[in-house]
Amino acid sequence: MKDAKIQEMRYVPTTCPYCGVGCGLNLVVIDGKLRGVEPWRRNPVNEGKLCPKGATCWQFVHSPDRLAKPLIKKDGLFHEAGWDEALDLIVSKFKDTIESYGPKSLGFQVSCRTTNEECYIMQKWARVAFKTNNIDNCARICHGPTVVGLNMSFGSGAMTNTFEDLLNSDFILIWGSNIIEAHPLVGRRIVQAKEKGTQVIVIDPRFSPTVRLADTWLRINPSTHTALANSMMYWIIKEGKHDKEFINKRTKGFKDLEKTIRNYADVEFITGVPTEKLREVATGYAEAKNAAIIYCLGVTELTTGTDNVQSLANLSMLCGNIGRPGAGLYPLRGQNNVQGACDMGAFPDIYSGYQECMLPEMRKKMEDAWGVHDLPDWNGATLTEQITQCGDPIRAMYILGLNPVVSYPDSNNVISSLEKLDFLVVQDIFFSETCKYADVILPGACFAEKDGTFTNGERRMNRVRKAVSPPGDAKVDWEIFVLLAKKMGISGFEFNSAEEIWNDMRLVTPSMFGCTYEIMEKPESVHWPCPTIGHPGTPILHKEKFATPDGLGTFAGIDYRPPAEVADEEYKYTLMTGRVIFHYHTRTQTGRCSILNYEVPSLYVQLNTEDAKELKIKNGETIKIRSRRGEIETIANVTDAVPRKVLFMPMHFDKGANTLTNTALDPLSGMPELKHCAVAIEKSQRKGPDL
Ligand code: SF4
Repeated sequence: MKDAKIQEMRYVPTTCPYCGVGCGLNLVVIDGKLRGVEPWRRNPVNEGKLCPKGATCWQFVHSPDRLAKPLIKKDGLFHEAGWDEALDLIVSKFKDTIESYGPKSLGFQVSCRTTNEECYIMQKWARVAFKTNNIDNCARICHGPTVVGLNMSFGSGAMTNTFEDLLNSDFILIWGSNIIEAHPLVGRRIVQAKEKGTQVIVIDPRFSPTVRLADTWLRINPSTHTALANSMMYWIIKEGKHDKEFINKRTKGFKDLEKTIRNYADVEFITGVPTEKLREVATGYAEAKNAAIIYCLGVTELTTGTDNVQSLANLSMLCGNIGRPGAGLYPLRGQNNVQGACDMGAFPDIYSGYQECMLPEMRKKMEDAWGVHDLPDWNGATLTEQITQCGDPIRAMYILGLNPVVSYPDSNNVISSLEKLDFLVVQDIFFSETCKYADVILPGACFAEKDGTFTNGERRMNRVRKAVSPPGDAKVDWEIFVLLAKKMGISGFEFNSAEEIWNDMRLVTPSMFGCTYEIMEKPESVHWPCPTIGHPGTPILHKEKFATPDGLGTFAGIDYRPPAEVADEEYKYTLMTGRVIFHYHTRTQTGRCSILNYEVPSLYVQLNTEDAKELKIKNGETIKIRSRRGEIETIANVTDAVPRKVLFMPMHFDKGANTLTNTALDPLSGMPELKHCAVAIEKSQRKGPDL
């Protein structure tokens, strides 16, 4: 009998490696290899359900393409090397660079795909070993505006309530989020809420799968969020439906808001949304007993990202829809550990738990804990600033788990910037498009090959558990930093497990001191803040007061600003970008899952039916798309899902959306304008595939 040959079969409960929902699942291990996933019904996030990505997340783990040995580039070609040779080279190059050019000559970038423990140890290594704050994570280019904006409004840049708590809402505004595809298991909560009678409003320029769920759809013009929010607030105040008691007791700055929104009675000429329809939604939100706002990258990935986030915070405070069950603000995090990478201090200006590097008392505290004396007293360069600074002043860079050539805006610029570096290290699980530009490539371990934690979008810290061993000579990522620190002879890195790193973090992070591995063993784990041992955690933030120094929420009067680059005579179309349910990030993992690739094997662009007619472009034909930064060819998907003169393209593919996107930055958060740029299109001479 076939099964008789099985020597060992185990279920290992862990966390999905993909989106920020953080679903629990059981990895099925048979004779040392992953063979599938099984539901983990006791996990409260997803109650045993998974989306197509989660259900196939084991498939890439044993791919023959996995990096299994360190590689060193010599004469333009990569050669396999031993760990000692590769790590010695990194240490000597980084030491030489810093001795010649100082601490601002190094850049460190960490992916939100890695565990909390790896984010923490990498930022500690950068700060302790090289005295640099040039460390950042890729939340910068998805929810950077959330961290900055909600911090200014509420004193904390995080989701206020839990996913399950959406079932207590009687009115849900989904703003700039295609939740059904991008965060499917939160989408399930919306379906459940609807079944209970909750009103669902979707605000999106595109008829996405999420719009199908909506009771009301506001088809907003791309990137006009602040104008829409201001107008909603205008009508709420005009009709006296704002929560005066909440405003008086819990907030400040209301007069500033009131003054600004006076000019926003009619914004249809900006937003495209008829005023009557906007008023209906505004009234519904204000009159609801408990109303929630869910938002995502449609709101944040703009040069106005922070303005937009603060506008949504204004709206929620105006109606007192914050700090109680069913009423909250939900930034949906993209990657599995976006929340955690930020919490761990992989940022150029904060340590773990959002403790500011610029405060002398905070530096002293970290110096004492880490046993060093001169932590940097300057703000480091952000992710995108580091790309701009390649060559001068940044000479050497260390990239952990990121693929900037595909995921950062203006791919051609990213490539030419990386080429200016004297030395580039990439640590990853596959040979990504960015690896080509590396001098040393280190093979890391994937989620199924290590212990640790991911923090999901609702601030719940979920355990990640080792099920199988990494391939070949690949190593667990935090172990690589332990080895590097040892080679440099620096102390404070003598860790033997992920838990020891976590405990090192807990000791310096008051908001997480009570989050022990013991408490995180439970399927429900705990939500930070959890300041003391035995604390139950905090599923709902801002109940009695906000996290600001004076405990008050802060209104800000914010005027609408258009995007940095709008359509004109030469570039007549607006390009929006986004996700599809079958892929994750730059497809290094999902591109190796046959089922997912079968569904969406290649790049395409959605083009409005009338525009296609005008340009004589048929569905499935190849078209050329050109922006001020580059040019690509792709397949036209002719549809009424996008409005006229607007295109939508998935962001996952190489030589795709980010060849075209704009590097203009949000001045407050450093977020590039990934969701909006002007493009020209024309029919290509090349024939596309038969669809
Ligand atoms: Fe994984 Fe997100 Fe899908 Fe859950 S919703 S299974 S976390 S990709």
